[in-house]
Amino acid sequence: MEKELTLNPFKIVQEQIENVGDVLGLSKDVVEVLKWPKRVLSVSIPVKMDDGSTKVFLGYRSQHNDALGPAKGGIRFHPDVTIDEVMALSMWMTLKCGVVGVPYGGGKGGVACNPKEMSQGEIEKVARGYIDGIWQFIGPEKDIPAPDVYTNPQIMAWMMDEYSKLKGYNVFGVITGKPLLLGGSEGRNMATAIGTLYTIREGVKVVGINLKGATVSVQGFGNAGFFAAKLLYDDGAKIVAVSDSKGGIYSEEGLDPYKVSEHKKKTGSVVGFPNTKEIGPKDTLTIPCDIVVPAALENQITTENANEVKAKIVAEAANGPTTPEADKIIAEKGILMLPDILTNAGGVTVSYFEWVQNNYGYYWSEEEVLDKLERIMVNAFKNVYEMYKEKKIDMRTAAGAVSIKRVVDAMKLRGWV
Ligand code: GLU
Repeated sequence: MEKELTLNPFKIVQEQIENVGDVLGLSKDVVEVLKWPKRVLSVSIPVKMDDGSTKVFLGYRSQHNDALGPAKGGIRFHPDVTIDEVMALSMWMTLKCGVVGVPYGGGKGGVACNPKEMSQGEIEKVARGYIDGIWQFIGPEKDIPAPDVYTNPQIMAWMMDEYSKLKGYNVFGVITGKPLLLGGSEGRNMATAIGTLYTIREGVKVVGINLKGATVSVQGFGNAGFFAAKLLYDDGAKIVAVSDSKGGIYSEEGLDPYKVSEHKKKTGSVVGFPNTKEIGPKDTLTIPCDIVVPAALENQITTENANEVKAKIVAEAANGPTTPEADKIIAEKGILMLPDILTNAGGVTVSYFEWVQNNYGYYWSEEEVLDKLERIMVNAFKNVYEMYKEKKIDMRTAAGAVSIKRVVDAMKLRGWV
């Protein structure tokens, strides 16, 4: 078995960029520009906790490249957040925006904290403290955050409110993924999963399987994973396994994600759902099925388990779930990889729509949003698939090539390289 070279997402994305540079025949110096974020800010956030103690949380915001427009990307609240992870995620955002062609560069933020062990009041203080630390760094024309792992519309509302207070007027366009009443967009909450569904619909066509009746396993039952399971189930797929951070469940007969979600709301986990076999959170990736949807964190498909993946399609709703060595194994096994920067780009695409609507102060119907999203996703898939066929490279490198070509052309036009 090949040894994993690194699990550091920053090193991984640098390697992916080098691969794309080779395919596009880019010069070493242009690749070097792309291998580093343009700006990274690190902040400490002291918070008076409910028990009267003061705790310091560390937060980061990375802006990778703004050749095509302001930086864009989510903010995650997770105990494992590091500066390297945030930098890597900001670079994947540049690639993602380039694949779907939304006029943004990549940004990402994170605070190392565990919202599962914090009260709502404490989470609000971290959210406001984070904005107090980074507000001069962001703005509707500079850098526009959004939700990511363990953050949600309520947290976006607090952040928008804090930024607006600092500016002295309402700035809805500073952040996306907000509640509908505060300038959010129809369709945003489900957008990542809807984009994943649209990509899978195209993927099954080229692999030659029918989504109706196809068996699906989903790792992660948060915003992306839960909605992906629900939408695929509504499309006629059979959801045979799902998992969250506490564990997984398997049922050969298939699961009803709506009922599993009710169970999770009551008990805090998908585990224990009646008439299912309990499995580990990572077993969802290797269970026999047609389509695997990693929708949790980075580094889930590695050299340790890539050989065990039995699906015909891996559709990455998460960011960075597959390591480069595992990617090679997946490709050798003839599995179609639908890479993160394409498959989960529905979220940032509807964020773009939200920002446009905020700038206009005029709001669209859900039908209008989804119609525009579908066209963008189908077109992005087509561009990536053509690149994959033409250059005979893997789908991830193909997606990167579609994207980086745009970014580099923009940098050249601006005279940066
Ligand atoms: N956090 C999401 C992502 O990783 C959404 C980013 C956004 O909407 O700006 O793509």
